[in-house]
Amino acid sequence: MKIAVIGAGIGGLSAAVGLQRVGAEVTVFERAPEVRAGGSGLSIFANGLAALESLGLREAFDAVTDASVEGFAAGQRLADGRWIAQVPNDSVGALRIVDRADLHRILLDALAPGTVRTGTEATATGTDGTLTIRAGSAEEAPTTESKAERFDLIIGADGLRSRVRTVVDGELVAPRYSGYSAWRGITSVPVDLSGEAGEPVGHGRRFGIAPLADGRVYWFAVANMPQNAVFADEKATIEQMFTSWHSPIADLIAATPSDEIRRTAISDLSRRLRHYHRGRVVLLGDAAHAMTPNLGQGGGQALEDAATLTVLLAPLLARRRSGGAAESSAKTVAAALGRYDSLRRPRTQSIAQKSRLMGQVFQLESPFLAGLRNAVFSAVPSRLIAAQAASVQKWSPPPL
Ligand SMILES: Cc1cc2nc3c(=O)[nH]c(=O)nc-3n(C[C@H](O)[C@H](O)[C@H](O)COP(=O)(O)OP(=O)(O)OC[C@H]3O[C@@H](n4cnc5c(N)ncnc54)[C@H](O)[C@@H]3O)c2cc1C
Repeated sequence: MKIAVIGAGIGGLSAAVGLQRVGAEVTVFERAPEVRAGGSGLSIFANGLAALESLGLREAFDAVTDASVEGFAAGQRLADGRWIAQVPNDSVGALRIVDRADLHRILLDALAPGTVRTGTEATATGTDGTLTIRAGSAEEAPTTESKAERFDLIIGADGLRSRVRTVVDGELVAPRYSGYSAWRGITSVPVDLSGEAGEPVGHGRRFGIAPLADGRVYWFAVANMPQNAVFADEKATIEQMFTSWHSPIADLIAATPSDEIRRTAISDLSRRLRHYHRGRVVLLGDAAHAMTPNLGQGGGQALEDAATLTVLLAPLLARRRSGGAAESSAKTVAAALGRYDSLRRPRTQSIAQKSRLMGQVFQLESPFLAGLRNAVFSAVPSRLIAAQAASVQKWSPPPL
């Protein structure tokens, strides 16, 4: 089975790893001149770890992460450091914090040489498996000629601004700005957190702290602002915004080189997709369900998508290898994609909705409403928090 993956992000690369391992002939098309990890750290919860396991990547992942973060005090704090709601360690499931560069390296190392074609823009023109491919992107190289190639399956893993999404849904589903943006960074040296992580929340602002296995710290700073906000000096702006917040926030920002701090406008999709597949085209990751990062689940869901697609297509690939060519007909592929849709769409769309809601609550600007939120957070029993988290973080691949 000849499969094209559009996009070499976490979603596209992990799907390529899974499908290549079960015998598909996979090519990943990435328009950027090189595969980029795109931004600092990533929290991977129990569901993402289960997906990595299913994709055969758990050992490599464990080698660059550790479980020590699970022992850190976590939960919501006030800007001065007092705890609003501390989440008991035994109610947090498995969690790892990974440097995205490490995760991308693991994914690339697991692929056969030559699988990824960088500097190549690809577009599904319809739903019959035809892909239009051109060197460079249309913006960078408008005169480059494009050529068409046929595949048994096209996977649209082309992110938040996916063009494949329009082919699958039939109409443009545009990104929707949340009203807040996030700076992210990783300190260049280890910083002592004294066993405390967590997320201090203020009025329209919040700061996240997550230790990496080697002692460096992944952090993010979120603030309400217009989507097109411009700051002369990004690092100075964060330093000033969080100047009076508790220790070691100032140290974390100071220990991060300015050119490694990136700001991202946080968006999800303006509406839910009606399908995740059409004909020989299927979506995964942010292309299907871009979500705000408030639950730390976008990457985890992309890994679940990849693992699910792999499990569902594996029997078809096995039958084809044993000579049952008819089994990989369009009808059989369509049945597998239909099952993918019914397994993935409800779950990912519900998580995206929860994540958006969490963001609205975390980013409350009015001191009165923020105070009310804090009072509610401090009153919620930890077993309820644990149950909520488990509903998102508990996942296993579909049975064959
Ligand atoms: C601030 C922030 C914090 C986050 N924190 C977490 C977290 O802690 N945990 C978590 O699980 N998730 C987190 N996420 C979400 C996570 O980063 C994304 O969900 C995930 O990276 C999406 O991966 P993807 O492969 O679907 O898309 P992308 O990473 O966007 O990859 C898409 C790729 O497709 C390429 N492409 C696009 N169009 C074309 C084309 N026509 N031809 C060829 N290539 C093309 C792009 O260049 C890109 O490389 C966070 C997100 C943000 C913004």
